[in-house]
Amino acid sequence: MAYYCKKTVADIDCSGKKVIVRVDFNVPFDSEGNISDDKRIVGALPTIKYLLDRNAAVILVSHLGRPKGEFNPKYSMAPASKRLSELLGKEVIQAADVIGPDAKAKAEALKPGEIMMLENARFHKEEEKNNPDFAKELASMAEIYVNDAFGTAHRAHATTAGLADYLPAVSGFLIEKEIAFLGNAVNSPVHPFVAILGGAKVADKLSVISSLLDKCDTLIIGGGMAYTFLKAQGYAIGTSLVDNEKIDYCKSMIEKAEKSGKKLLLPVDAKTIAEFPNPIDAPVTVEVYDYDKMPDDRMGCDIGPATCELFANEIKNARTVVWNGPMGVFENPILAEGTIAVAKALAEAEATTIVGGGDSAAAVEQLGFADAISHISTGGGASLEFLEGRDLPGISCLENKDRRIVAAGNWKMNKTPSEAKAFITELAAACKDAKNDIIAAVPFVAIPAALEAAAGTNIKIAAQNMDYHDKGAYTGEVSAEMLCDLGVRYVIIGHSERRQYYNETDETVNLKVRQAIRYGITPIVCVGESKDQRLAGVTNELVAYQVEYALNGVRDDLAAGIIIAYEPIWAIGTGLTATDEQAEEVCKVIRETVKKLYGSNVSSVITIQYGGSCNAKNAAGLFAMENIDGGLVGGASLKVPDFSIIANS
Ligand code: AMP
Repeated sequence: MAYYCKKTVADIDCSGKKVIVRVDFNVPFDSEGNISDDKRIVGALPTIKYLLDRNAAVILVSHLGRPKGEFNPKYSMAPASKRLSELLGKEVIQAADVIGPDAKAKAEALKPGEIMMLENARFHKEEEKNNPDFAKELASMAEIYVNDAFGTAHRAHATTAGLADYLPAVSGFLIEKEIAFLGNAVNSPVHPFVAILGGAKVADKLSVISSLLDKCDTLIIGGGMAYTFLKAQGYAIGTSLVDNEKIDYCKSMIEKAEKSGKKLLLPVDAKTIAEFPNPIDAPVTVEVYDYDKMPDDRMGCDIGPATCELFANEIKNARTVVWNGPMGVFENPILAEGTIAVAKALAEAEATTIVGGGDSAAAVEQLGFADAISHISTGGGASLEFLEGRDLPGISCLENKDRRIVAAGNWKMNKTPSEAKAFITELAAACKDAKNDIIAAVPFVAIPAALEAAAGTNIKIAAQNMDYHDKGAYTGEVSAEMLCDLGVRYVIIGHSERRQYYNETDETVNLKVRQAIRYGITPIVCVGESKDQRLAGVTNELVAYQVEYALNGVRDDLAAGIIIAYEPIWAIGTGLTATDEQAEEVCKVIRETVKKLYGSNVSSVITIQYGGSCNAKNAAGLFAMENIDGGLVGGASLKVPDFSIIANS
């Protein structure tokens, strides 16, 4: 899972507190006025239940539809509260207004363990304007702000971002989950990574086309937007949807794909109709044409059978698939086959499959494929903006997680599997109430025994190295996939002994870091200078360079989860230790380098350890330094009494 650097409700004490939770209950209704899809309400349940279980008094706020800043009973939240109440088996008190006297009185009277819903936030035009007075009024009802509305996380409105200016702000579990899936897919996808875009307009998806081309192996384009691409290639497209202003853009994307060796798949045939159906699901007569034989008077409204097969085959071989947008006018059953074929291919693929909100999510659900998809996003627009790599204001406004102190022991070539088992068992008992996070990096062969002993304890097991290749003829090496398969979640990379004796270079360190992240393994990246380099006065410059090189190509939300260990080589195994001040100076350089690369959000949460004759005596002093978040401990990690002191320092 991608590391999530924002605090969630699990990171704060919310018991007995009044908590205002922004949810996305913007649910669709059928013609009889019943909620036709309650996925968004269901999606918020984990956060709501968590808060109620802890006796928080929960005040929900959401928008619904477009009431344009005016009270309008048609857009009342009441049906959503009723549905929520059924799902919770508990009364949900509905307020008659948002910041008016009824809402305020009800919020005031709300007891721990009770839940209420404010009226539609968009009944006030101040909501979308992110008006600070409006946000302040809302904030006055609560003590904590939780944002769990992923669907509106790309908007900076009063309830989606403004509240964070007045209350401690954390995220709910839905947002955490969305970012974990979307973040992993775009930042460290298992390859081949196939991205599929459809829908009506190229213009809506300009930046996502370009940014997905950077990350994926194959980009599939279907739906109405494909015809602008086909026209850009010089084909006649009849009366199909086209955006003439974007032809040059499409040409540049085709060129970009060619230059970067990416596959860009466009439809090879089309289901055509004579006229756009009205109503949209009215019967139509279709004729199928190849992409180069489209008659002037026909309109392509779905991908044809050959395209369905072409796309499905590509999806079949993928290990990661992201899909956003229908392949045709899927609202009409006769023109829905292409969308169905893609949905089915995703459901059958042995890949991590992610469907980004809106029409494609609805299609997957209607067809009964939802259970076979790894993740269906609750936010169409938000997921697209996230895939583009844009900052989501509803998430960036939330508080960062606190930095944890991590005590990691590096056993080097010590302890057999049976010794490891006994040691971890003893260590776990001695450290069961330890303040710090504890990791033991054990020899490869001792990993299974160590993992077994560590199960259910607070001890985590790391490997001391890994190879950066996926697989192949690399005698004696161990891959990230193998470690991942065993259940290893940490790995030391670039230890000075490996740099010194085994030809580890900044380049292989970087390859290993990226490979580890790809498999969800947290790298503990070692950097540091030799005695000569220190004497030559190049320490800071060198370490900054090593950090920059090691993190090259790693995106910010994943970089935040990496552990960097500063190990002055002259202090390893020599008994010499950097003074607290010397260690702090270099760790500060490391944090500033991370800040330069990723900004302060990441640099303020990333863990930076000191390693180099760190022991039970000096650990407390070192860990108390502002920029030192624990230690990578050698010899002193081999004795339970010593290491347990360090784990508590
Ligand atoms: P979007 O909101 O851009 O994801 O587009 C979704 C809409 O695109 C749906 O309402 C589809 O009916 C429409 N659409 C998909 N393919 C076509 C097409 N070939 N011609 C016209 N509209 C299409």
